[in-house]
Amino acid sequence: MAATTTLPDIDLGPAPGPGTAAAAGIAGNADAAEDVELTFVGTATVLLRLGGFTLLTDPNFLHAGDHAYLGLGLRAKRLTKPALQPADLPPLDLVVLSHHHGDHFDHVAARELDKALPIVTEPHSARKLRSQGFTRPIALETWASQSFVRGPHRLTVTSMPGKHAPQPLQSLLPPVMGSVLDLTTDGRHRLRVYVTGDTLMHDRLADIPRRYPDIDLCLIHLGGTRVAGILLTMDAEQGVRLLRLVRPRTAVPIHYDDYTVFRSPLSDFREAVATARADGDDVPDIHYLDRGESYRFPLPEDRDAPG
Ligand SMILES: [Zn+2]
Repeated sequence: MAATTTLPDIDLGPAPGPGTAAAAGIAGNADAAEDVELTFVGTATVLLRLGGFTLLTDPNFLHAGDHAYLGLGLRAKRLTKPALQPADLPPLDLVVLSHHHGDHFDHVAARELDKALPIVTEPHSARKLRSQGFTRPIALETWASQSFVRGPHRLTVTSMPGKHAPQPLQSLLPPVMGSVLDLTTDGRHRLRVYVTGDTLMHDRLADIPRRYPDIDLCLIHLGGTRVAGILLTMDAEQGVRLLRLVRPRTAVPIHYDDYTVFRSPLSDFREAVATARADGDDVPDIHYLDRGESYRFPLPEDRDAPG
């Protein structure tokens, strides 16, 4: 097992101001520190507020009809409209980026996001972000972590293994990471979130529940992306297998219908979940969100406390 690297903490200082009126409307009712609020923007873009931190995953703001560049001369047309644009966002503390594909970090994100924003990602994407003028990409090897501190709250982002393509194609696709977000307040462990990133089911995923058990919430990238007939992200059946492996309390499916290359719609996943449950398989609760919808719940006081 590789040694884990822990980078020095980043102190974010006091919480930023209330931001624009539009931004205030997104999460106007959430207690900044005591609620978790997740807003699904589209593709794998999620605005997440927890413990007073505000972060965005995989920023993708292309409009319906725009094309995302996937490397190798491949493009995919967007079919959906993101619920928010950069101007609608509240002040962000950080971005977590699974990989630098056009459906996860597009030219709108490159142009509009603050160049000094910390962006936690894998090393290949970090180099690309630097070449685009971003000054604070944070490159994590698998299992390495970066913590952000604000007052009593600490948010730790740890890189999880991901695999975007079967062996023969692996060198043609960019590396990808999943991430675990752990929130503590005064040392009390309050929340663990796992974001899968674009990954297929593969052997190394079994290390995740071994090293990071008791996941409260899993944001699962589905869609069954296929290029030239080859599966590049989990389809419905793999998604159910991953959830049965990782066993989060709740899962929220994302990355399922936004591009022409996504071939496994959410209805397939709903069916696969129903079939697995009918077979007696233990499948976690699934919370379905439309683009623009939010999921809000109170932060547990201390998830590791007995009782
Ligand atoms: Zn993708």
